[in-house]
Amino acid sequence: MRNKCAILFVLLVLSMLPSFQAASAAPEIQAPEEQNSTSKVASSHESLTLGELRRKYAETFKFRGPQVKQIALTFDDVPDPRFTPQVLDVLAKYHIKATFFVVGQRAVKHPGLVKRIYREGHLIGNHSYNHPLFKNRNLAYFKNQILRTEKIIYNLTGFRPKLIRPPYGEINEEQLRWVKSSGYKVINWNVDSKDWKGLNKEQVKNNILSAAGPGSIILQHAGGGVGADLSGTVQALPEVISTLRSQGYTFVDLSELLHIKGYK
Ligand code: ZN
Repeated sequence: MRNKCAILFVLLVLSMLPSFQAASAAPEIQAPEEQNSTSKVASSHESLTLGELRRKYAETFKFRGPQVKQIALTFDDVPDPRFTPQVLDVLAKYHIKATFFVVGQRAVKHPGLVKRIYREGHLIGNHSYNHPLFKNRNLAYFKNQILRTEKIIYNLTGFRPKLIRPPYGEINEEQLRWVKSSGYKVINWNVDSKDWKGLNKEQVKNNILSAAGPGSIILQHAGGGVGADLSGTVQALPEVISTLRSQGYTFVDLSELLHIKGYK
């Protein structure tokens, strides 16, 4: 009897996990953005892994570019006055165009920084309104997060981003179908700097250089939650750029890498 109770208790706890997970992905909380191709994306009977979704919706859901000597640097969770200007300064010094995935709630707080990103020629993508975990949310919730952020970005730049990066790289099939039918693209990554962990310059640099290759989409951050330290990202950037350039790579934004329009 005791065993049965224990099992029931474990089942009860497990059944509560998805909602707990979603609730813990609160606004402004920085959490890992793992590209886990084996994780299930939805609890429905038809749930496919991210890897399966990428294959099924290959034209809509991308994580790397063609095998050419081009690399796209991408910076998530912007704008953030502590780190975004420093990243922009380095990119300007090296004459590089990158892609920035904007969180709507942060754009409202720091509109001038979104304008600066756009003015300096970088591509802007949509990274949700307040950074929730989407995979167990319904379509209406997903659409609201994307369209609300799109409107904010449109009001600041005059353009509606076509590229969406869901927080943590997670999305379910229903949401992806809407993305496809509405003319957006979901862009994840195939090189993860893991810089959100507060890694130092050498660690960030090694994570990128050990995995980067032709057509790579590199995930970094230029914004974070309370207490985030992205100084490793900022310090590693000049050496990452110089090393990859010396290997013959050029840096392009996601629109150029993937030959798709950046805005609607
Ligand atoms: Zn993010």
